Amino acid sequence: MKPSLSFSSIRLRLFKGWVLALAILFLWNPANAWAQQGSGEPRTVEVQAGDTLVGISERLGVPLEALMEANQISDPDVIWVGQVLVVPEVTVPVPPGVATYALTPAEDLFSLADRLMLLPQDLLMLNRGMLPAYFRLEPEIFVPEQHPATWPSPVLAFRHSPQIVQGQCGVVELVLSRPLPPSGTFGETKLHFFLTGRRGQRYHYRALLPTPAMLEPGDYDLAIKVADTALRARLPVMAGSYDTQYIVLPPDKGALLAPQRVQAELAKLHQVWDVFQPARLWRGAFRFPIGEGFQRTSPYGTRRSYNGGPVSSFHSGSDWGAPEGTPIAAPAAGIVILAESLDVRGGAVILDHGQGITSSFWHLSQIDVQAGQRVSRGEQIGLVGTTGLSTGAHLHWEVRVGGVPVDPMQWTQTDFPFVPLVDAQSADE
Ligand SMILES: [Zn+2]
Repeated sequence: MKPSLSFSSIRLRLFKGWVLALAILFLWNPANAWAQQGSGEPRTVEVQAGDTLVGISERLGVPLEALMEANQISDPDVIWVGQVLVVPEVTVPVPPGVATYALTPAEDLFSLADRLMLLPQDLLMLNRGMLPAYFRLEPEIFVPEQHPATWPSPVLAFRHSPQIVQGQCGVVELVLSRPLPPSGTFGETKLHFFLTGRRGQRYHYRALLPTPAMLEPGDYDLAIKVADTALRARLPVMAGSYDTQYIVLPPDKGALLAPQRVQAELAKLHQVWDVFQPARLWRGAFRFPIGEGFQRTSPYGTRRSYNGGPVSSFHSGSDWGAPEGTPIAAPAAGIVILAESLDVRGGAVILDHGQGITSSFWHLSQIDVQAGQRVSRGEQIGLVGTTGLSTGAHLHWEVRVGGVPVDPMQWTQTDFPFVPLVDAQSADE
Protein backbone atom coordinates (compact mmCIF):
# COMPACT_ATOMS: atom_id res chain seq x y z
CA MET A 1 0.00 0.00 0.00
CA LYS A 2 1.49 3.39 -1.02
CA PRO A 3 1.49 6.09 1.75
CA SER A 4 0.25 8.82 -0.64
CA LEU A 5 -2.85 6.82 -1.50
CA SER A 6 -3.62 6.25 2.17
CA PHE A 7 -3.31 9.98 2.81
CA SER A 8 -5.68 10.82 -0.08
CA SER A 9 -8.08 8.22 1.15
CA ILE A 10 -8.24 9.75 4.63
CA ARG A 11 -8.67 13.23 3.19
CA LEU A 12 -11.53 12.05 0.94
CA ARG A 13 -13.29 10.38 3.84
CA LEU A 14 -13.08 13.58 5.87
CA PHE A 15 -14.60 15.62 3.10
CA LYS A 16 -17.17 13.08 2.03
CA GLY A 17 -19.86 14.41 4.36
CA TRP A 18 -19.98 17.92 3.02
CA VAL A 19 -19.25 16.89 -0.59
CA LEU A 20 -22.47 14.83 -0.47
CA ALA A 21 -24.30 17.73 1.17
CA LEU A 22 -23.15 20.05 -1.63
CA ALA A 23 -24.18 17.56 -4.26
CA ILE A 24 -27.86 17.80 -3.33
CA LEU A 25 -27.71 21.55 -4.12
CA PHE A 26 -27.04 20.72 -7.75
CA LEU A 27 -29.79 19.83 -10.12
CA TRP A 28 -27.90 16.89 -11.37
CA ASN A 29 -28.96 15.28 -14.62
CA PRO A 30 -27.69 11.71 -14.59
CA ALA A 31 -27.85 11.50 -18.39
CA ASN A 32 -25.12 14.16 -18.59
CA ALA A 33 -22.88 12.40 -16.11
CA TRP A 34 -21.26 10.28 -18.73
CA ALA A 35 -20.58 10.76 -22.36
CA GLN A 36 -20.79 8.13 -25.04
CA GLN A 37 -18.10 8.52 -27.66
CA GLY A 38 -18.32 7.27 -31.22
CA SER A 39 -18.20 3.54 -31.71
CA GLY A 40 -14.76 2.04 -31.25
CA GLU A 41 -13.66 4.51 -28.57
CA PRO A 42 -14.02 3.45 -24.95
CA ARG A 43 -16.95 4.85 -23.04
CA THR A 44 -15.93 7.20 -20.24
CA VAL A 45 -17.60 8.85 -17.27
CA GLU A 46 -16.55 12.01 -15.45
CA VAL A 47 -16.77 11.88 -11.66
CA GLN A 48 -19.25 14.44 -10.32
CA ALA A 49 -19.47 15.96 -6.83
CA GLY A 50 -21.09 13.41 -4.57
CA ASP A 51 -20.12 10.40 -6.68
CA THR A 52 -18.68 7.28 -5.15
CA LEU A 53 -17.14 4.46 -7.16
CA VAL A 54 -19.70 2.04 -5.73
CA GLY A 55 -22.49 4.40 -6.82
CA ILE A 56 -21.06 4.73 -10.33
CA SER A 57 -20.68 0.95 -10.55
CA GLU A 58 -24.32 0.42 -9.58
CA ARG A 59 -25.56 3.17 -11.84
CA LEU A 60 -23.81 1.83 -14.91
CA GLY A 61 -24.40 -1.81 -14.09
CA VAL A 62 -20.65 -2.45 -14.26
CA PRO A 63 -19.11 -4.57 -11.50
CA LEU A 64 -16.98 -2.53 -9.06
CA GLU A 65 -13.97 -4.80 -9.61
CA ALA A 66 -14.14 -4.33 -13.39
CA LEU A 67 -14.30 -0.53 -12.96
CA MET A 68 -11.29 -0.59 -10.56
CA GLU A 69 -9.26 -2.80 -12.86
CA ALA A 70 -9.97 -0.75 -16.01
CA ASN A 71 -8.87 2.47 -14.22
CA GLN A 72 -6.07 0.91 -12.17
CA ILE A 73 -7.77 1.92 -8.93
CA SER A 74 -6.61 -0.04 -5.88
CA ASP A 75 -8.81 1.77 -3.33
CA PRO A 76 -12.44 2.40 -4.36
CA ASP A 77 -12.66 5.38 -1.97
CA VAL A 78 -9.97 7.30 -3.89
CA ILE A 79 -11.64 9.18 -6.73
CA TRP A 80 -11.95 12.90 -7.34
CA VAL A 81 -14.38 15.29 -8.99
CA GLY A 82 -13.46 15.75 -12.65
CA GLN A 83 -11.63 12.43 -12.86
CA VAL A 84 -12.40 10.67 -16.15
CA LEU A 85 -13.05 6.97 -15.67
CA VAL A 86 -12.96 4.41 -18.43
CA VAL A 87 -16.14 2.30 -18.40
CA PRO A 88 -15.13 -1.21 -19.39
CA GLU A 89 -17.29 -3.28 -21.73
CA VAL A 90 -18.64 -6.02 -19.55
CA THR A 91 -20.42 -8.94 -21.09
CA VAL A 92 -23.26 -9.67 -18.73
CA PRO A 93 -24.28 -13.32 -18.96
CA VAL A 94 -27.91 -13.65 -20.04
CA PRO A 95 -29.76 -15.49 -17.27
CA PRO A 96 -31.82 -18.56 -18.19
CA GLY A 97 -35.37 -17.80 -19.35
CA VAL A 98 -34.31 -14.31 -20.40
CA ALA A 99 -33.71 -12.85 -23.86
CA THR A 100 -32.16 -9.54 -24.91
CA TYR A 101 -34.16 -6.90 -26.72
CA ALA A 102 -33.05 -3.66 -28.42
CA LEU A 103 -35.39 -0.75 -27.69
CA THR A 104 -36.67 1.15 -30.71
CA PRO A 105 -36.34 4.99 -30.57
CA ALA A 106 -40.05 5.28 -29.88
CA GLU A 107 -40.00 2.94 -26.86
CA ASP A 108 -39.34 3.59 -23.19
CA LEU A 109 -39.64 1.67 -19.95
CA PHE A 110 -43.36 2.20 -19.68
CA SER A 111 -44.31 1.43 -23.27
CA LEU A 112 -42.14 -1.72 -23.25
CA ALA A 113 -43.54 -2.88 -19.89
CA ASP A 114 -47.04 -2.28 -21.22
CA ARG A 115 -46.27 -4.24 -24.38
CA LEU A 116 -44.84 -7.13 -22.36
CA MET A 117 -47.80 -6.97 -19.99
CA LEU A 118 -45.38 -6.54 -17.07
CA LEU A 119 -45.21 -3.91 -14.35
CA PRO A 120 -42.38 -1.38 -14.95
CA GLN A 121 -40.76 -2.38 -11.63
CA ASP A 122 -40.72 -6.06 -12.67
CA LEU A 123 -38.95 -5.14 -15.89
CA LEU A 124 -36.40 -3.09 -13.90
CA MET A 125 -35.83 -6.04 -11.52
CA LEU A 126 -35.19 -8.29 -14.51
CA ASN A 127 -32.56 -5.77 -15.60
CA ARG A 128 -30.51 -6.04 -12.41
CA GLY A 129 -32.51 -3.40 -10.56
CA MET A 130 -31.77 -0.75 -13.17
CA LEU A 131 -32.95 2.80 -12.42
CA PRO A 132 -35.73 4.10 -14.73
CA ALA A 133 -33.54 7.06 -15.87
CA TYR A 134 -30.94 4.67 -17.34
CA PHE A 135 -33.38 2.39 -19.09
CA ARG A 136 -33.28 4.16 -22.45
CA LEU A 137 -29.47 4.36 -22.38
CA GLU A 138 -28.99 0.61 -22.39
CA PRO A 139 -28.22 -0.86 -25.81
CA GLU A 140 -30.05 -4.05 -24.85
CA ILE A 141 -32.77 -4.74 -22.35
CA PHE A 142 -33.45 -8.10 -20.73
CA VAL A 143 -36.98 -9.36 -21.42
CA PRO A 144 -38.62 -12.69 -20.56
CA GLU A 145 -37.74 -15.29 -23.17
CA GLN A 146 -40.34 -16.25 -25.81
CA HIS A 147 -42.38 -13.25 -24.95
CA PRO A 148 -44.53 -11.21 -27.32
CA ALA A 149 -41.75 -8.59 -27.31
CA THR A 150 -40.08 -10.77 -29.90
CA TRP A 151 -43.04 -10.27 -32.25
CA PRO A 152 -42.89 -7.28 -34.58
CA SER A 153 -45.34 -4.36 -34.37
CA PRO A 154 -48.35 -4.23 -34.34
CA VAL A 155 -48.39 -7.71 -32.72
CA LEU A 156 -48.50 -7.53 -28.92
CA ALA A 157 -49.20 -11.23 -28.35
CA PHE A 158 -49.48 -14.41 -30.42
CA ARG A 159 -51.03 -17.35 -28.58
CA HIS A 160 -52.62 -20.68 -29.44
CA SER A 161 -53.96 -23.88 -27.89
CA PRO A 162 -51.01 -25.89 -26.54
CA GLN A 163 -52.03 -28.84 -28.71
CA ILE A 164 -55.08 -30.18 -30.56
CA VAL A 165 -56.42 -33.75 -30.69
CA GLN A 166 -57.34 -35.01 -34.20
CA GLY A 167 -60.97 -34.09 -34.92
CA GLN A 168 -61.08 -31.42 -32.25
CA CYS A 169 -60.93 -27.66 -32.40
CA GLY A 170 -58.17 -25.38 -31.17
CA VAL A 171 -57.94 -21.61 -31.01
CA VAL A 172 -55.35 -19.00 -32.02
CA GLU A 173 -55.25 -15.44 -30.70
CA LEU A 174 -53.48 -12.32 -31.90
CA VAL A 175 -53.41 -9.22 -29.71
CA LEU A 176 -52.71 -6.16 -31.84
CA SER A 177 -52.07 -2.49 -31.12
CA ARG A 178 -54.30 -1.52 -34.06
CA PRO A 179 -57.68 -2.82 -35.26
CA LEU A 180 -56.33 -4.87 -38.16
CA PRO A 181 -57.92 -8.30 -38.70
CA PRO A 182 -55.21 -10.95 -39.25
CA SER A 183 -55.45 -13.72 -41.85
CA GLY A 184 -53.73 -17.09 -41.96
CA THR A 185 -53.74 -20.81 -42.42
CA PHE A 186 -53.37 -23.84 -40.16
CA GLY A 187 -52.04 -26.69 -42.26
CA GLU A 188 -54.36 -26.47 -45.25
CA THR A 189 -57.24 -24.82 -43.39
CA LYS A 190 -57.92 -21.14 -43.99
CA LEU A 191 -58.50 -19.20 -40.76
CA HIS A 192 -61.18 -16.61 -40.00
CA PHE A 193 -60.26 -14.13 -37.28
CA PHE A 194 -62.85 -12.20 -35.31
CA LEU A 195 -62.48 -9.39 -32.78
CA THR A 196 -63.33 -11.00 -29.43
CA GLY A 197 -62.37 -8.16 -27.11
CA ARG A 198 -60.71 -4.81 -26.76
CA ARG A 199 -58.92 -3.31 -23.79
CA GLY A 200 -57.51 0.17 -24.42
CA GLN A 201 -55.29 -0.08 -27.47
CA ARG A 202 -55.22 -3.89 -27.36
CA TYR A 203 -57.37 -5.58 -29.96
CA HIS A 204 -57.92 -9.30 -29.35
CA TYR A 205 -58.59 -11.39 -32.45
CA ARG A 206 -59.35 -15.12 -32.24
CA ALA A 207 -59.77 -17.82 -34.89
CA LEU A 208 -60.86 -21.43 -34.50
CA LEU A 209 -58.47 -24.19 -35.62
CA PRO A 210 -60.52 -27.20 -36.77
CA THR A 211 -58.57 -30.43 -37.40
CA PRO A 212 -60.05 -33.23 -39.53
CA ALA A 213 -60.56 -36.56 -37.72
CA MET A 214 -58.20 -38.40 -40.09
CA LEU A 215 -55.50 -35.71 -40.19
CA GLU A 216 -52.10 -37.40 -39.74
CA PRO A 217 -50.82 -36.64 -36.20
CA GLY A 218 -47.74 -34.38 -36.14
CA ASP A 219 -46.69 -30.73 -36.08
CA TYR A 220 -48.53 -28.35 -38.39
CA ASP A 221 -47.68 -24.83 -39.50
CA LEU A 222 -49.70 -22.00 -38.10
CA ALA A 223 -48.98 -19.16 -40.55
CA ILE A 224 -50.42 -15.72 -39.75
CA LYS A 225 -50.30 -12.44 -41.64
CA VAL A 226 -50.99 -9.03 -40.10
CA ALA A 227 -50.58 -6.27 -42.72
CA ASP A 228 -46.98 -6.84 -43.91
CA THR A 229 -45.98 -8.89 -40.88
CA ALA A 230 -45.77 -12.68 -41.20
CA LEU A 231 -45.73 -14.91 -38.11
CA ARG A 232 -45.22 -18.64 -37.93
CA ALA A 233 -45.51 -21.29 -35.22
CA ARG A 234 -45.64 -25.09 -35.14
CA LEU A 235 -48.61 -26.63 -33.40
CA PRO A 236 -48.87 -30.33 -32.50
CA VAL A 237 -51.91 -32.39 -33.52
CA MET A 238 -52.17 -35.49 -31.32
CA ALA A 239 -53.77 -38.81 -32.27
CA GLY A 240 -57.35 -39.32 -31.04
CA SER A 241 -58.59 -42.74 -29.85
CA TYR A 242 -60.96 -43.69 -32.65
CA ASP A 243 -62.30 -47.16 -33.36
CA THR A 244 -63.17 -48.77 -36.68
CA GLN A 245 -66.76 -49.83 -37.40
CA TYR A 246 -67.78 -52.40 -40.06
CA ILE A 247 -71.31 -51.60 -41.23
CA VAL A 248 -73.51 -54.01 -43.19
CA LEU A 249 -76.55 -52.35 -44.76
CA PRO A 250 -79.77 -54.17 -45.73
CA PRO A 251 -80.18 -54.46 -49.54
CA ASP A 252 -82.95 -51.80 -49.85
CA LYS A 253 -80.91 -49.25 -47.88
CA GLY A 254 -77.75 -50.29 -49.70
CA ALA A 255 -79.29 -49.26 -53.01
CA LEU A 256 -79.23 -45.67 -51.77
CA LEU A 257 -75.42 -45.85 -51.80
CA ALA A 258 -75.34 -45.49 -55.62
CA PRO A 259 -72.25 -43.27 -55.95
CA GLN A 260 -73.85 -40.55 -58.10
CA ARG A 261 -76.75 -40.05 -55.63
CA VAL A 262 -74.33 -39.93 -52.66
CA GLN A 263 -72.06 -37.47 -54.48
CA ALA A 264 -74.93 -35.24 -55.60
CA GLU A 265 -76.30 -34.98 -52.06
CA LEU A 266 -72.87 -34.26 -50.58
CA ALA A 267 -72.14 -31.57 -53.20
CA LYS A 268 -75.45 -29.88 -52.34
CA LEU A 269 -74.64 -30.00 -48.60
CA HIS A 270 -71.15 -28.58 -49.11
CA GLN A 271 -72.75 -25.54 -50.73
CA VAL A 272 -74.98 -25.14 -47.68
CA TRP A 273 -72.09 -25.60 -45.21
CA ASP A 274 -70.10 -22.96 -47.10
CA VAL A 275 -72.38 -20.19 -45.85
CA PHE A 276 -70.57 -17.56 -43.94
CA GLN A 277 -71.89 -14.71 -41.88
CA PRO A 278 -69.57 -12.90 -39.46
CA ALA A 279 -71.90 -12.51 -36.43
CA ARG A 280 -71.30 -15.01 -33.61
CA LEU A 281 -74.82 -16.19 -32.72
CA TRP A 282 -73.78 -18.76 -30.10
CA ARG A 283 -72.83 -17.88 -26.51
CA GLY A 284 -71.07 -20.33 -24.23
CA ALA A 285 -70.92 -24.10 -24.55
CA PHE A 286 -73.51 -25.85 -26.75
CA ARG A 287 -76.51 -27.54 -25.16
CA PHE A 288 -76.83 -31.26 -25.87
CA PRO A 289 -79.74 -31.46 -28.42
CA ILE A 290 -81.69 -34.35 -26.86
CA GLY A 291 -82.46 -35.05 -23.17
CA GLU A 292 -80.39 -37.01 -20.69
CA GLY A 293 -80.05 -40.79 -20.47
CA PHE A 294 -79.58 -41.79 -24.12
CA GLN A 295 -76.84 -44.11 -25.35
CA ARG A 296 -74.22 -43.01 -27.80
CA THR A 297 -74.37 -45.63 -30.55
CA SER A 298 -71.49 -44.34 -32.66
CA PRO A 299 -69.06 -41.65 -31.58
CA TYR A 300 -67.66 -38.98 -33.85
CA GLY A 301 -64.45 -39.93 -35.68
CA THR A 302 -65.07 -43.70 -35.90
CA ARG A 303 -63.40 -45.02 -39.04
CA ARG A 304 -65.96 -46.76 -41.26
CA SER A 305 -66.19 -49.58 -43.73
CA TYR A 306 -69.52 -50.23 -45.55
CA ASN A 307 -70.46 -53.78 -46.62
CA GLY A 308 -66.89 -55.08 -46.34
CA GLY A 309 -65.34 -52.18 -48.29
CA PRO A 310 -62.10 -50.40 -47.35
CA VAL A 311 -61.78 -48.02 -44.38
CA SER A 312 -61.76 -44.81 -46.36
CA SER A 313 -64.18 -42.62 -44.41
CA PHE A 314 -65.00 -41.68 -40.85
CA HIS A 315 -68.14 -40.85 -38.93
CA SER A 316 -68.54 -37.09 -39.25
CA GLY A 317 -71.04 -36.74 -36.39
CA SER A 318 -72.11 -38.21 -33.06
CA ASP A 319 -74.94 -40.80 -33.10
CA TRP A 320 -77.34 -41.17 -30.17
CA GLY A 321 -79.91 -43.96 -29.98
CA ALA A 322 -83.28 -42.46 -28.94
CA PRO A 323 -86.91 -43.55 -29.54
CA GLU A 324 -88.62 -42.21 -32.64
CA GLY A 325 -90.35 -38.92 -31.75
CA THR A 326 -87.80 -37.73 -29.17
CA PRO A 327 -87.68 -33.89 -29.42
CA ILE A 328 -84.47 -32.32 -30.79
CA ALA A 329 -83.52 -28.85 -29.49
CA ALA A 330 -81.19 -26.31 -31.10
CA PRO A 331 -77.82 -26.60 -29.26
CA ALA A 332 -77.24 -22.85 -29.73
CA ALA A 333 -78.94 -19.90 -31.39
CA GLY A 334 -78.76 -19.88 -35.16
CA ILE A 335 -80.43 -19.49 -38.52
CA VAL A 336 -82.01 -22.51 -40.29
CA ILE A 337 -80.16 -22.85 -43.61
CA LEU A 338 -81.60 -26.25 -44.65
CA ALA A 339 -84.79 -28.06 -43.64
CA GLU A 340 -85.82 -30.84 -46.04
CA SER A 341 -85.79 -34.57 -46.76
CA LEU A 342 -82.62 -36.01 -48.36
CA ASP A 343 -81.92 -39.40 -49.98
CA VAL A 344 -79.05 -40.55 -47.75
CA ARG A 345 -79.56 -38.41 -44.64
CA GLY A 346 -83.37 -38.50 -44.49
CA GLY A 347 -85.13 -35.66 -42.64
CA ALA A 348 -82.40 -33.03 -42.37
CA VAL A 349 -81.94 -29.69 -40.58
CA ILE A 350 -78.84 -27.48 -40.70
CA LEU A 351 -78.34 -24.48 -38.41
CA ASP A 352 -75.87 -21.65 -39.05
CA HIS A 353 -74.46 -20.42 -35.71
CA GLY A 354 -72.35 -17.73 -37.41
CA GLN A 355 -68.63 -17.33 -38.11
CA GLY A 356 -68.60 -20.50 -40.21
CA ILE A 357 -70.01 -22.81 -37.49
CA THR A 358 -72.92 -25.11 -38.46
CA SER A 359 -74.90 -27.89 -36.72
CA SER A 360 -76.47 -30.64 -38.85
CA PHE A 361 -79.15 -33.13 -37.77
CA TRP A 362 -80.05 -36.21 -39.86
CA HIS A 363 -82.65 -38.99 -40.00
CA LEU A 364 -85.46 -36.87 -38.45
CA SER A 365 -89.01 -38.27 -38.50
CA GLN A 366 -90.42 -34.72 -38.39
CA ILE A 367 -88.98 -31.27 -39.22
CA ASP A 368 -90.38 -28.35 -37.18
CA VAL A 369 -88.49 -25.43 -38.78
CA GLN A 370 -88.14 -23.77 -42.18
CA ALA A 371 -85.11 -22.46 -44.03
CA GLY A 372 -84.40 -18.82 -43.15
CA GLN A 373 -85.99 -19.09 -39.70
CA ARG A 374 -84.09 -17.87 -36.63
CA VAL A 375 -84.02 -20.27 -33.69
CA SER A 376 -82.95 -19.67 -30.12
CA ARG A 377 -80.93 -22.01 -27.91
CA GLY A 378 -83.15 -24.90 -26.78
CA GLU A 379 -85.91 -24.31 -29.36
CA GLN A 380 -87.38 -27.52 -30.82
CA ILE A 381 -86.29 -28.10 -34.45
CA GLY A 382 -87.69 -31.62 -35.09
CA LEU A 383 -88.07 -35.21 -33.86
CA VAL A 384 -85.71 -38.20 -33.82
CA GLY A 385 -86.39 -40.82 -36.56
CA THR A 386 -84.72 -43.38 -38.80
CA THR A 387 -85.28 -41.85 -42.24
CA GLY A 388 -82.67 -42.10 -45.03
CA LEU A 389 -79.60 -44.34 -44.68
CA SER A 390 -80.19 -45.47 -41.09
CA THR A 391 -80.44 -48.84 -39.33
CA GLY A 392 -82.57 -47.68 -36.37
CA ALA A 393 -84.04 -44.62 -34.67
CA HIS A 394 -81.17 -42.32 -33.72
CA LEU A 395 -80.01 -38.73 -33.91
CA HIS A 396 -76.95 -37.98 -35.99
CA TRP A 397 -75.58 -34.56 -34.94
CA GLU A 398 -72.54 -32.98 -36.51
CA VAL A 399 -70.75 -29.68 -36.00
CA ARG A 400 -68.68 -28.16 -38.78
CA VAL A 401 -66.15 -25.36 -38.49
CA GLY A 402 -65.47 -23.78 -41.87
CA GLY A 403 -66.91 -26.94 -43.44
CA VAL A 404 -64.60 -29.27 -41.43
CA PRO A 405 -66.57 -31.77 -39.31
CA VAL A 406 -65.27 -31.71 -35.72
CA ASP A 407 -66.23 -33.56 -32.52
CA PRO A 408 -69.62 -32.07 -31.48
CA MET A 409 -69.17 -33.27 -27.90
CA GLN A 410 -66.19 -30.91 -27.47
CA TRP A 411 -68.61 -28.06 -28.24
CA THR A 412 -70.92 -29.13 -25.37
CA GLN A 413 -67.98 -28.85 -22.95
CA THR A 414 -66.17 -25.77 -24.28
CA ASP A 415 -66.97 -22.06 -24.33
CA PHE A 416 -65.46 -21.43 -27.76
CA PRO A 417 -63.50 -19.37 -28.59
CA PHE A 418 -62.55 -18.55 -24.96
CA VAL A 419 -60.16 -21.41 -24.15
CA PRO A 420 -56.80 -21.28 -22.31
CA LEU A 421 -53.87 -20.49 -24.64
CA VAL A 422 -50.08 -20.48 -24.47
CA ASP A 423 -47.64 -17.98 -26.00
CA ALA A 424 -46.47 -19.05 -29.46
CA GLN A 425 -42.80 -19.79 -30.01
CA SER A 426 -41.25 -18.72 -33.26
CA ALA A 427 -41.02 -21.62 -35.68
CA ASP A 428 -37.64 -20.33 -36.84
CA GLU A 429 -35.94 -21.03 -33.52
ZN1 LIG B 1 -74.25 -40.74 -37.72
